Amino acid sequence: MAISILSAGVSTAGSEPQANTARDFVKLVSEGIDLINKFSDNLSQNARSLAVEIQNYTSYSLEKGGDHFDHGGFTAAFPPQQIEPFQVIAFGVSSNGLATGVNGSIDFVVEGGGLIRFGFDNPFVGTNGRYVRPDPLADSKVAVPSVISVGNDAHVRFSIYDKLGKGARRQEQWRSCHKCQQLFYDGHEFKGVCPAGGGHESTASFKYFAIFNANGSSRLQNDWRSCRKCQTLHYGAIPGACAAGGPHNSEQSFEYGVLFNAHPTPSRQLGWCSCNKCRALFYAPHGGRCAAGGQHDTYASFQYLLDFKV
Ligand SMILES: [Zn+2]
Ligand SMILES: [Zn+2]
Ligand SMILES: [Zn+2]
Repeated sequence: MAISILSAGVSTAGSEPQANTARDFVKLVSEGIDLINKFSDNLSQNARSLAVEIQNYTSYSLEKGGDHFDHGGFTAAFPPQQIEPFQVIAFGVSSNGLATGVNGSIDFVVEGGGLIRFGFDNPFVGTNGRYVRPDPLADSKVAVPSVISVGNDAHVRFSIYDKLGKGARRQEQWRSCHKCQQLFYDGHEFKGVCPAGGGHESTASFKYFAIFNANGSSRLQNDWRSCRKCQTLHYGAIPGACAAGGPHNSEQSFEYGVLFNAHPTPSRQLGWCSCNKCRALFYAPHGGRCAAGGQHDTYASFQYLLDFKV
């Protein structure tokens, strides 16, 4: 039976890479809307306000720099100090006096250098506006399209895309096996080979996302592969024992990237480790079963994180 890792449900063709990326990351978009709904209800009817949303579709983290207001200021939700890879943040800005609007900007520094200024304007009279001013270094790394809505309480969205590399995507057919605790690809009829016997089983698993085609960064480790014999995500740079016998086989696999040294969120789960014996990514709090015998071994592993939905 032929097992095609490439037919795993994500189109790599298409003339609108940014639109396709947004589709692959649709949960990120809905998280942004949830964030905005949380503070939009509290706005005064007489004020001018903006919900500012920044979507980071890159593997870089961004550090908050300065901010500046000609009118108004932050409201209800404040911007965080950091935007992590593949994360969306939102904050509110509003006017703070009679017959004034809100007009300001906020800076974020891209990992490795490069500053982006995000500007926004909801005047008391006139049209809403926004701008993006990357310095030359940031401009060489990222593209930042933006949109803004009309009205006194409006919404501006900035989306950050990586200009370098192939363009990050993600697959949502990954599951944890309750028998071996490994992350495996559940999109095929063939459920791989489980170290605990039989095929992997996704019973009670969250739906995990695996990132691929991303650039490596301080928070994203590349070189992860899916094994066509056991269907497990494993670190491909070092050989590891495969439950189907011999070492893993990563032929035809995408290059996957796994987040590490990042912060957990309600949809980003900490607790994943690479096994020092079999190189599989596994959920450490539950131990599991290793293809090299006994339990998996967390020795020298980073603390990895996976995005999921229920
Ligand atoms: Zn298993
Ligand atoms: Zn394998
Ligand atoms: Zn193991």
